[in-house]
Amino acid sequence: MLYFFILLSFFYYYNRILIFIDSCDNMINSTIFITGTPCTGKTTISQLLFDKFNIKKDWDVKLLKTNDLALENNLILGTHPEKEYKIVDIDKLDKIFTVQKEDFFKKHSNLNKLLLFEGHLSHFCTGADKVIILRVYPDKLKLRLNGRNYNNSKIFENLQAEALAVCSVEAYEIYKDNSFEIDVTDKSPYEILNIICEIILDKLEPNIGSVDFTSWLINNDIN
Ligand code: ADP
Ligand code: MG
Repeated sequence: MLYFFILLSFFYYYNRILIFIDSCDNMINSTIFITGTPCTGKTTISQLLFDKFNIKKDWDVKLLKTNDLALENNLILGTHPEKEYKIVDIDKLDKIFTVQKEDFFKKHSNLNKLLLFEGHLSHFCTGADKVIILRVYPDKLKLRLNGRNYNNSKIFENLQAEALAVCSVEAYEIYKDNSFEIDVTDKSPYEILNIICEIILDKLEPNIGSVDFTSWLINNDIN
C-alpha cells in the first residue's frame, strides 16, 4: 500500500513538473517599443497598456520611458539651436535600456513578461521584438500640438514629419517586418489597446507603409 502511494505521488509531481515546463515553453517574453511623432498618444496608450497587463495575474509587466531614462541619467547633450528639441545621447540611452531589460528578463518566474519602452526615440534603441508606431493625421495632430508650448515652426516641423512618416521609416530601417503602424486618428484608447494586444499576440501582420498621410503635404505646401 505504501509503495502504491509513493508511486502515485511520484506520478502526480512528475506530471505537475511536465505541465510547468510545458507552460514555460508557451510563455510570452516580449519587448515592445511604442514610438511616434510627439502627441500621437504614446504616453497615454503605454500607461493604459501597462495598467491592462498589470492587473493580469499571469503577466509581469514593466514600463520604461525614454524621457525618464534620459533625464534620470543626464543623457541630454544640449538643445538644438534652431529647432529647440533636446539632443539625447542615444548610445547611452540604449546601454541603460539594455541593462534594465536584462534585469527584467533574468528574474525567473512562471509569468508571461512584457517590457514596454515608450518614447519617440525608442526605435533607435536595440532589443525590441516589435516596434509600434502610432500615427495621427496631421490636421488632428495639429490640434493636439497646439496644446503644447511649442512655437509654430516646431509644430509645423512635427506635422511634416508625421505626414512623411519619419518615425515609421526610421523604425523600418532598423526593425524591418517587426514594425507595425497604427492609424489612431479616430480610434479610442480602448480600440488602440485591442490592436496592440493583437500585435503582441502575433495576430497581426507587419504593415509598414499602410498609413499614408502624404496627401496632406500637397495642401500644406512648405514653401
Ligand atoms: P505623446 O506621448 O505621444 O506625446 P500623449 O500621450 O501625451 O502623446 O498624448 C497627447 C495628447 O493627445 C493628450 O492630450 C492625450 O490626452 C491625447 N490623446 C492621446 N491618445 C488619444 C486618443 N486615442 N484619442 C484622443 N486623444 C488622445
Ligand atoms: Mg509622451
